[in-house]
Amino acid sequence: MISSLSPESIEAWLLWQHQLQPFTFNEKFAEEINSSISEQIAKVFDKSAFFSVSKAVPVKNVVEEPVDESLPQLERVRVKAERCSACRLAAKRTNMVFGEGNPEADIMFIGEGPGEDEDLSGRPFVGKAGQLLTKIIENGMKIPREQVYIANIVKCRPPANRDPMPDEAQCCIGFLKEQIRIVNPKVLILLGKVAIKNLLGIESSMSKARETTYEYEGIKVFVTYHPSALLRNESFKRPVWEDIKKVMKYLGMM
Ligand code: SF4
Repeated sequence: MISSLSPESIEAWLLWQHQLQPFTFNEKFAEEINSSISEQIAKVFDKSAFFSVSKAVPVKNVVEEPVDESLPQLERVRVKAERCSACRLAAKRTNMVFGEGNPEADIMFIGEGPGEDEDLSGRPFVGKAGQLLTKIIENGMKIPREQVYIANIVKCRPPANRDPMPDEAQCCIGFLKEQIRIVNPKVLILLGKVAIKNLLGIESSMSKARETTYEYEGIKVFVTYHPSALLRNESFKRPVWEDIKKVMKYLGMM
């Protein structure tokens, strides 16, 4: 019965029903589901469940309440992200993970989304992959982690550490674009395919994507493997180091 199904299995079923096209749970969507649901499915699934899912993840696209204009720019964006429930990821977050670091950093790292440690702490890249990123910054680039800025494509943890869905990334990317605009770094370093796809619109293998550098709003963009890929496959160590050296050369750090 529907009552024994988890929200994830309902979501998976709905995604399947919609040919794996992602969507946002909102009232309009729930109405569409209810008007199009077949009798056969209705026998199995209680329609009210769709409304309960809809209510569990209300679409509230950022902030009606005013934000304190006296706050620094980045803090104002953080407040908006803290209030955000524009996509389904809001429902299960412990903390929104905005990003952290030097608001005037030359180097900005961008990953894909928070994992469990990040969700619990509210800080980006603090789990095993984060510790590895810190080593890359501090032992490889020889600068303190606090000197760079670190953020993600989505600010709330995708369940079971799956990749953010396109609609989730689309809902959230505005916060990241604001962070980039305000920090205005000299270089962006995109960690992994999710960041590359969602910021640059490029879908290719990592080995192909690494062959060149890019530009985003006049900022030089380098790409490399996500540290979690490095944890799974030690052979990525060398290419990551080559990518980091390219950044250091560009910034005159070596
Ligand atoms: S992931 Fe981004 S868009 Fe979705 S609820 Fe969190 S802050 Fe809002």
